[in-house]
Amino acid sequence: MIGQSVRLTTIRGIEVGLHYSWFIILFLITFSLTTRFASEHPHWTTVEHYTVAIATSLLFFASIFLHELAHSFVALAKGIHVRSITLFAFGGVAQIGREPDRPLTEFQIAVAGPIASALLAVGFWFVSHLAGDQFEHVAALGGWLASINLMLAIFNLVPGFPLDGGRILRAVLWHVTGSFAKATRIAAGSGQIIGYGLILGGIWMGLVTGNWFSGLWLAFIGWFLRNAAQESVLQVSLSSVLTGVRAEDIMARDCPTVSGRMRLAELVQEHILKTGQRCFVVAEGGRLEGLVTLHQIKAVPQSRWTDVSVGEAMTPLAKLRVVTPETLILEVLQAMEGGDINQVPVAKDGQFVGLLTRDHILRVLSTKMELELPTGPGPIRASADAV
Ligand SMILES: [Zn+2]
Repeated sequence: MIGQSVRLTTIRGIEVGLHYSWFIILFLITFSLTTRFASEHPHWTTVEHYTVAIATSLLFFASIFLHELAHSFVALAKGIHVRSITLFAFGGVAQIGREPDRPLTEFQIAVAGPIASALLAVGFWFVSHLAGDQFEHVAALGGWLASINLMLAIFNLVPGFPLDGGRILRAVLWHVTGSFAKATRIAAGSGQIIGYGLILGGIWMGLVTGNWFSGLWLAFIGWFLRNAAQESVLQVSLSSVLTGVRAEDIMARDCPTVSGRMRLAELVQEHILKTGQRCFVVAEGGRLEGLVTLHQIKAVPQSRWTDVSVGEAMTPLAKLRVVTPETLILEVLQAMEGGDINQVPVAKDGQFVGLLTRDHILRVLSTKMELELPTGPGPIRASADAV
């Protein structure tokens, strides 16, 4: 989701971006506000209707941004790195580096957003009242922003994970039960139920009141919430299964190595065609030298396979991501995701000891998940806020 976004700026190391879906919503909200202002203030000119509508919707998104910024600043104050804030169709998302390690921290980060929205509601209410009849445009803008920010504060307090209210619920459950995974499962279960409720409510609204626009809107938010809740359960079980697992615990130790002096023709004939393996570790006397993949072999014209050596075609050690046997699997997975790597050699003092591949980790993971589900906080937290 964060991938397809336009980067705006960076604030205290936090990347701020707009997801492409945001532009559609900006247009829809501006359009709907224009219609609203036109019916409430028929004596305004069309230009006035549009100008006030555009200013209002931009301030609305600024409000959502401030809500996310409130979560992020509390996280930063607690020593948790914040990667990005992205505004998208259904609100905003703050990507936070890791899960808070205490229920209180989780609570404080979660509650900061709704507090920010409530303060904004109060602020806009004052603006609207001070403007009065003298500054009608400002009064209309402030009035709408006050009520939408109040709704934002209230809706996000609904106790369904990953909404803020769901995070508060999780923090409380985590504090009471002492189990992060259990708290997440319950809070996310509540999130899924609320998600389904919103979908049904949206359909009902469309059928009964004929207001299909708001109904669909509600249903989409419900669908988004349901998916996000499901995903977070998966992520928590994934990371809780892998917490504390180190490279040496699950790496493949029986991985054959080849010499860098070998010609590509021999590697293909004697090793690749016979084993079907697509990636080979290159080592000399046990010393890790590099990694050669099918992809790299194919990059060399077939006529040259008898001349080119494995050492010339491989990714050399200097450009490889290598881990030690003690490295945590969660770190290895993050490196794989970040660098789009499929295999990571494990070496100790330069000696090759094993290989970790994405497939291998996933296989071990699914086996472990069938057998056990220990508890422990995971590495990634995405706070989702719906409008
Ligand atoms: Zn929030």
